[in-house]
Amino acid sequence: MAELVFFSGTMDCGKSTLALQMDHNHSARGRVGLIFTKMDRAGSNVLSSRLGLSTGALEVSDELDLWDAVVGRATAGQRIDYLVCDEAQFYSPRQVEQLARIVDEMDVDVFAFGITADFRTELFPGSKRLIELADRVQVLQVEALCWCGRRATTNARVVDGVMVVEGEQVVVGDTQTGGAGVVEYEVLCRRHYMRRMTAQAARAASLSPEVLPFDLDVCALPARPITQAD
Ligand SMILES: [Zn+2]
Repeated sequence: MAELVFFSGTMDCGKSTLALQMDHNHSARGRVGLIFTKMDRAGSNVLSSRLGLSTGALEVSDELDLWDAVVGRATAGQRIDYLVCDEAQFYSPRQVEQLARIVDEMDVDVFAFGITADFRTELFPGSKRLIELADRVQVLQVEALCWCGRRATTNARVVDGVMVVEGEQVVVGDTQTGGAGVVEYEVLCRRHYMRRMTAQAARAASLSPEVLPFDLDVCALPARPITQAD
């Protein structure tokens, strides 16, 4: 029985690396798959991971009908056992429904990888639909870490060095957008997200001569140091 599986995580948790590994594992067993992605940091028609691996991929444009794309290839005689769909948070809810239909009617496994929530901590529409429709949602176990050492569960947007919580939902990082400043992303634990305390802000605060009247626990490190035994 084919399945629709949503592998979710924050940025920097190795999603694209796992997507590549998933493709490798299945093709090593003689299965044939298609790789889709959307707005990968390395450009169009490529799935890249931060560890430096990459492979060709089909770009999911806003207009692409995934059902038609997959049925068209199958009708032309191409064997398709599974799909690897990276950056799935950027797919439209309609495209996620097309993925579910591919699983149910073509018996093709769909492995979708994506970030659940945006820089405002609100679900991306594509991720929301995946959570609603997936047979399984698997939270990736490689954890991204906040600068304080806690598990990072949020993706903060930083514009010209300052964390922002308002703006367009989709702005690809490391870009200069028409005078709007340089946009970067930083993973933070919830506590430091709520306090708008990025690594840079924390450094500035620790250098500030001002003494807070009460302990905000702003720069607290984890109670236990991280050791190799962990
Ligand atoms: Zn933190």
